Amino acid sequence: MTVPPNNSFSSKPKNGRVLVAGATGFIGHFVAEASLAYGRPTYVLVRPPPLSPSKVSTIKALEDEGAIVVHGLVNDREGMEKILKENEIDIVISAVGGEKVADQFALVEAMKNVGTIKRFLPSEFGHDVDRSDPVEPGLNMYKVKREVRRRIEESGVPYTYICCNSIASWPYYDNNHPAEVVPPLDQFQIYGDGSVKAYFVAGIDIGKLTMKCVDDVRTLNKNVHFRPSCNLYNMNELASLWEKKIGRTLPRVTITETDLLAAAAENRIPQSVVASFTHDIFIKGCQVNFSIDRPTDVDVGTLYPEETFKTLDECFTEFLLKIEDHHPVDKNSTNTPMLEPLPITTSCA
Ligand code: NDP
Repeated sequence: MTVPPNNSFSSKPKNGRVLVAGATGFIGHFVAEASLAYGRPTYVLVRPPPLSPSKVSTIKALEDEGAIVVHGLVNDREGMEKILKENEIDIVISAVGGEKVADQFALVEAMKNVGTIKRFLPSEFGHDVDRSDPVEPGLNMYKVKREVRRRIEESGVPYTYICCNSIASWPYYDNNHPAEVVPPLDQFQIYGDGSVKAYFVAGIDIGKLTMKCVDDVRTLNKNVHFRPSCNLYNMNELASLWEKKIGRTLPRVTITETDLLAAAAENRIPQSVVASFTHDIFIKGCQVNFSIDRPTDVDVGTLYPEETFKTLDECFTEFLLKIEDHHPVDKNSTNTPMLEPLPITTSCA
């Protein structure tokens, strides 16, 4: 099957057949879109039907852009071997959700048995899990992600680990996909003293830069870190940025370290996982408390200096426009509107 050229990132379509697992998910969708935008032959692994109407329309949209749908499960070793062989897949990118990362053990076995995979990018897309040490229940997810890394390394399948840090959005401590929720309009919840910094990356940049890495020899068996200096913010700075956008100040309440640890200890999944990561990021500083100086580290900005990152300022403007579409904001009002965060999808994810 031929893939129509969709060259929004590059005028020269790239070779190498890509299989994206999790393309109907939050991160995987950005990756699949970017693969198509680079004009790559892009296969998307979709779980067998029945599918929800929203998944059907997501898949249809990807197909319209040239994606080829294959039905299967990453935890089905034999099925994955067949898919990889029959479709002559070169590059596998997995973006299965955090609670499903153990499903990748079978996928790693399948790739090892097939023996032709040129690069595997497992479902990482966050912190360097060998260097971060969140409290439970986040730690449990990291233990599985670490074990996936060890199995890949033992398998001999070439790999790249994408450590893209935080999604560019307000980092709610109890929301799995914060980029789908607008920043607050009633009050800010500031973690600790609000001074610990983190890197924020728009979903579109995660997809674009991930796809640049997939056959770059410089990223072979490396950890690729996303540290855009333009998007390094602490909670206080984030709040000020949003206040400038909405044209007024909001009250700030402190969520203490103890509060975050208590939310993590509740062990509600996925909220407590997010609370444990929030603690790791904004109290312990897990994104900024180490240098990327190991032989296995590469910085995505150094690799691709020609690429610019979408700024958090731009992302917040998009959030504001979305809010104004739904509820006009009175910039002169001193009242705090009683408006719940809107669960919307933003192009800035
Ligand atoms: P989602 O839950 O949004 O999507 C998961 C995708 O994987 C879906 O397409 C799902 O299919 C698919 N899937 C799940 N199990 C299987 C399976 N066994 N076989 C085939 N497909 C499967 O995941 P996220 O985008 O939230 O997470 C992806 C990665 O990104 C995770 O490692 C997560 O930790 C990380 N992440 C990082 C964030 C950050 O801020 N840096 C934010 C969010 C996630 P279906 O549609 O059928 O359910």
